[in-house]
Amino acid sequence: MTALHLQTLTELKAGLEKGDFTSVELTTALLERIGSLGPDLNAFISVLGDNALAQAAAADAARAAGNAGVLCGLPIVHKDIFCMRDVLTTCGSRMLENFVAPYDATVVERLAEAGAVVLGKANMDEFAMGSSNETSYFGPVHNPWDHARSPGGSSGGSAAAVAARLSPAATATDTGGSIRQPAALTNTVGFKPTYGRVSRYGMIAFASSLDQAGIITRSAEDAALLLGVMSGFDERDSTSVDVPVPDYLAGLGGSLNGLRVGIVRQHFDAGLDEQCAAAVKAALAELEAAGATLTEVDLPNLDYCVPTYYVVAPAECSSNLSRFDGVRFGYRASEPKDLNDLYCRSRGEGFGAEVKRRIMTGTYVLSAGYYDAYYLKAQKVRQLITDDFQRAFESVDVIAGPTTPTPAFKLGDKTDDPITMYLNDIYTIGANLAGLPAMSTPCGMVDDLPVGLHLVGPHWAEGRLLQIAHQYQQLTDWHKQAPEAYT
Ligand code: GLN
Repeated sequence: MTALHLQTLTELKAGLEKGDFTSVELTTALLERIGSLGPDLNAFISVLGDNALAQAAAADAARAAGNAGVLCGLPIVHKDIFCMRDVLTTCGSRMLENFVAPYDATVVERLAEAGAVVLGKANMDEFAMGSSNETSYFGPVHNPWDHARSPGGSSGGSAAAVAARLSPAATATDTGGSIRQPAALTNTVGFKPTYGRVSRYGMIAFASSLDQAGIITRSAEDAALLLGVMSGFDERDSTSVDVPVPDYLAGLGGSLNGLRVGIVRQHFDAGLDEQCAAAVKAALAELEAAGATLTEVDLPNLDYCVPTYYVVAPAECSSNLSRFDGVRFGYRASEPKDLNDLYCRSRGEGFGAEVKRRIMTGTYVLSAGYYDAYYLKAQKVRQLITDDFQRAFESVDVIAGPTTPTPAFKLGDKTDDPITMYLNDIYTIGANLAGLPAMSTPCGMVDDLPVGLHLVGPHWAEGRLLQIAHQYQQLTDWHKQAPEAYT
């Protein structure tokens, strides 16, 4: 039998069903692995050993009693942005260093109801603001492919845990690329659904009109399995949309014959590493060989994606993070002189530099006199970007290209230059601005570092993206490559 940590979620599910091993055995094996290999990666903020073993025992009992849910006994990790009842939920911030959530996020609740076992809470950039995991109050996460490099962010802990085979899957969130970029940099599969597909209830807000929960796995099939459970209307999230959730697993079959793939020429302009470009082009050729047709599509406002995002996201963050005032939630400065001092020092000491930068930018673009020039203008450009995608999807089924401009970069390389850091999301941000489903799947290696293929679809076309990625994964085995030290 393949070692348990090397099996995908789908393989583990079959093994549990056949009785080859129990959830307690599986959970114990992974917790041991997390104990020995986890600390060097710093992928976890909390490891939930006792909790996980209790959930595993309950899952084994449920199975014995004939009550096994879809994910009965299967281990996962939650990004520490998801509230989990009675469990520390930090969002990577000193502000929430001691915050124990009083309730479960819908995502946490749905996965638990299906029988999943939570191994721990994953490290992340502070309040999900970052592209390298270096803004975390709990320190950077190391990329399992090369410890000197970043696993990407903000879901760096989730991605590193899955890449290092410490967990077969992890939840994650994506506001501008935080699922797909770390997935690309760690050779994992990252899926961001359509805005409104997965409930944001209990997911600590960064930029509410962009934030979307999703998943990091090692195969498209595993992503389909988990998304089916996570997705669906939730009345507790006012932006959750009541549209039926298809059976994603049932939709994975079928050939790529006749698939219309759109290619954006600007994606391959200067800025994209040449070797990454070659890997992505090889992946596109693979799709073509499987029967897809490639056509060029135009996204005329593409250049405005990053600047638009860096007005809209900080604006919403400045509003969302105003609740952290030293009174209602989280960190409180000691011995404040007066109320003003309490606010100033609690926020000054509780937030890190990047979060403060965003709050200040956001407050500025929303202020009287600048609102029209920045925020309103950004909202208009956002609509133009959305229209561009809509027009493109009149002639193609999917848009494909690179997920990131380069493979994983060195920790420390971009921390002094926020603009360069922001440009890491140049290919991913458009999908957030337009609310579209998008994913990254492994498609090559450059000097032993992974490269991701980015797929974007029309609203609610999650099933199509999963099918394309699954079929691609039947033809290639990039997604099976693991960092040598973690096999
Ligand atoms: N890297 C982007 C940022 O720093 C996106 C983050 C995210 O998707 N949460 O805002």
